[in-house]
Amino acid sequence: MALGLGTRLIAARSGGPVIPGEPYLTVRHLHKRFGRFEALRDVSLTVNAGEFVCFLGPSGCGKTTLLRAIAGLDQASAGRIDQGGRDITYLPPAQRDFGIVFQSYALFPNLTVAQNIAYGLHGREWPKARREDRVHELLDLVSLASHAHKYPAEISGGQQQRVALARALAPEPNLLLLDEPLSSLDAVVRQILRQELRSLQRRLGITTIMVTHDQEEAMSVADRILVMSNGRVEQMGTPEEIYRRPASAFIADFIGRSSDFEAVVEGDSLRATTGHRIPAATGLKDGTALRVFLRPEDVILGPDAERRRGFMSMQVTALEYLGPVCRLTLENGRLDLEADASPDEVRSLDAYPGAALSVALPAERLILFPL
Ligand code: ATP
Repeated sequence: MALGLGTRLIAARSGGPVIPGEPYLTVRHLHKRFGRFEALRDVSLTVNAGEFVCFLGPSGCGKTTLLRAIAGLDQASAGRIDQGGRDITYLPPAQRDFGIVFQSYALFPNLTVAQNIAYGLHGREWPKARREDRVHELLDLVSLASHAHKYPAEISGGQQQRVALARALAPEPNLLLLDEPLSSLDAVVRQILRQELRSLQRRLGITTIMVTHDQEEAMSVADRILVMSNGRVEQMGTPEEIYRRPASAFIADFIGRSSDFEAVVEGDSLRATTGHRIPAATGLKDGTALRVFLRPEDVILGPDAERRRGFMSMQVTALEYLGPVCRLTLENGRLDLEADASPDEVRSLDAYPGAALSVALPAERLILFPL
């Protein structure tokens, strides 16, 4: 594909060469204030060339503000942003090197698909023949060649978003910024498009940042995820790292499902505030107060639990079929847990509401945060 982005070493439109895997975009100690409100507080991160990074966090945490600061659409109040070895902190958007796609497709309704894609291709750099070639290339890339002469109102939402993506990629930027690009689409189109987006990004090798509040979406496409809350970075890591080794109780709670309870260290066990004793040699001082999290797939059930020290009997209070897994709600006194089991396991354990079930909480899977 002659897109000029897939080669190992590509000359950035401005700044130094882009070397896959090397730091390409760095944000240091960034602050953004709107009046007295601090939307970004001391945000630092590095995005490597060719990486797909998602900004994830609850509504209002500052994801879009951070993306807009990187694009120059909102200027930072303090801190520094470097892209491709160049300080871009105070550059206007037109002097930066990025393509952007917004949630609303923002296509020109009076221009055809091909004209929308060609929109940013002007000036000496894009003589007519080169511009036409580029538009054809992009139409093929997003599988819309047969729709080139249609107007936005004549194509579906998913197709409109593909046009927006092609338009953003047309001038061969080295950075692609996506602000909730899939959130106005219905669930099925959304899933298809996110995989298309991911494979396109891989093929082009273009450094990409996507804002999303949908953690499944972030988990499925991102190389790394930046989790934010209240204008701060909570953690940046691979999907597996943030799921398996959350850096804070906020992340353990926010990412994926988990049960949690408070406990204190008591020798080689934890004494939960519910009164339950859970074997776990933490190495922490007796009396240390902890918040303990456990993922539903890590709870051990039935005969496997009975082989573990300190297993307990819990009552199944609810059973939810989720297709490939069933989610059990378990109760013993004031301790509530969620546990996942396959439908076969539920049948063989007879784990239906009202039944008693042996349960063990594996020490090696407990996620602990000092209070
Ligand atoms: P969402 O997922 O809801 O879009 P977000 O994480 O993208 O949320 P931002 O849009 O970055 O959040 O907003 C962060 C905070 O900054 C919010 O409290 C918002 O109200 C505030 N904010 C954003 N833009 C402005 C502005 N132009 N003026 C004043 N406050 C703003």
